[in-house]
Amino acid sequence: MSKPVLQSSPVNHADFKELFRNLTAVFDSGKTRDLAWRRAQLNAVKKMMSECEAELFAALKADLGKSASESFMTETSYVSADAAYSAKNLNRWTRKRRVSTPVFGQPGQSWIQPEPLGIVLVIGAWNYPVQLTLAGMSAAIAAGNCVVIKPSELAPATSALLARLLPKYLDPDCVKVVEGSVPETTALLDLPFDHILYTGGGNVGRIVMAAAAKHLTPVTLELGGKSPCVVLPDANLETTARRIAWGKFTNAGQTCIAPDYLLTDTDTEALLVPLLEKCIREMFGDDPQKSDSYGRMVNDRHFQRVSAFIASGHTVIGGQLDAADKYIAPTVITDVAPDSAVMREEIFGPVLPIVRADNLEEAIALIRSGDKPLSAYIFTNNKRAERKFLEQVSSGNACVNDVMMFMTVHELPFGGVGPSGMGAYSGKRGFETFSHMKAVMKRGWWPDLALRYAPYTDKKLNLLRKIR
Ligand code: NAD
Repeated sequence: MSKPVLQSSPVNHADFKELFRNLTAVFDSGKTRDLAWRRAQLNAVKKMMSECEAELFAALKADLGKSASESFMTETSYVSADAAYSAKNLNRWTRKRRVSTPVFGQPGQSWIQPEPLGIVLVIGAWNYPVQLTLAGMSAAIAAGNCVVIKPSELAPATSALLARLLPKYLDPDCVKVVEGSVPETTALLDLPFDHILYTGGGNVGRIVMAAAAKHLTPVTLELGGKSPCVVLPDANLETTARRIAWGKFTNAGQTCIAPDYLLTDTDTEALLVPLLEKCIREMFGDDPQKSDSYGRMVNDRHFQRVSAFIASGHTVIGGQLDAADKYIAPTVITDVAPDSAVMREEIFGPVLPIVRADNLEEAIALIRSGDKPLSAYIFTNNKRAERKFLEQVSSGNACVNDVMMFMTVHELPFGGVGPSGMGAYSGKRGFETFSHMKAVMKRGWWPDLALRYAPYTDKKLNLLRKIR
């Protein structure tokens, strides 16, 4: 069995080059093109998620304090369902798609034939360390590629576990895990991959894209940003509060598509705050620090960064901190100025600012004054307001009257726009991202019209005009 994990410090570039050479040889052998091989790998992903559930839950608990239910909902069952969906649709997605051939191409046939790209690099982030590596990997396998996975070093227990489990379940000749941090990722980025899927912050996204440019490697960048959540007064506020509290405080707010901040008017805010408080108590009890359902900040740096945001407003819920436990209580702050620190960067933690917007127009103007977000949310019963919001706010994804739930719809592509990312994956779109859609035309031999061949005459030109 080939060596699955490279943990070289300092990085040995020769190891990485050899890894790439080996993968190239396997890809060139055609092994990964075989549909039975692809299906077997996708089934193995499902098997791994169920057989190793306890180990995966333990690693996620160690890295992020995730509860078993949260790990199941947002990591293992997601990855499993995603792989199952790809396996089920493999025949349909890989089929040639016929397109019509115009008069000029007759006799002839034309079609689009998906083909694998080659070797795909998946660089994952720490917040959903199973999902963000394995869902991309499954899509790349479904499309018939070899894959190198680089899990985030900030979730070390999960990274080590994936490095141990993947070679047991998946074909170790075609799927490799490289553990490590910046030096390892930098060395990987020197290689001429056929596609890179990167999930993480925009600054590293720029590094990835610049490295990819040297080889003209296409990239899919899954980045973040401040996802706004507008609550209009006509919304069902009880359900609104429950859904927002769930979306914001899942994984202790460390979710790229979590509602980052709320925009609402003062009357609605006055009604919403007690409802949010009630929901937080129902979900995590009187002391969320004691709740098994509530997570922790990933490390001290993020604990300090997010804690500092609380000072941007008036704390109406939570605010308790415990640095030794990396614990930040589910916190809601009001009287937040649009130019305060908490509004200048993605929060990525359990602090929910409420910013005043007296009406939808004001809310839209405020959102549009910032970067295009990854997700945008609105709670309202008003169809015109909903339409206006969807038309005027550009975002990677959007959800009306809920948050984050579009992730359950396999047919919806997932990805950002502008600074929140480029490209998308999930379901069929994932298959397409990691495929080249080769355009093919096949001609018959006869008739072979003289019309297109020189010498060009006026008579031919007139005929051409008639045919067009
Ligand atoms: P991170 O620190 O885990 O970094 C992501 C990856 O980049 C890691 O594998 C890491 O090793 C690598 N990396 C870090 N520095 C590097 C460098 N200098 N050169 C090369 N590689 C390097 O994750 P993060 O950046 O803290 O992630 C948080 C961000 O990710 C947030 O903005 C969040 O919104 C976003 N995110 C987006 C999605 C999405 O699907 N769109 C999902 C999760 C997180």
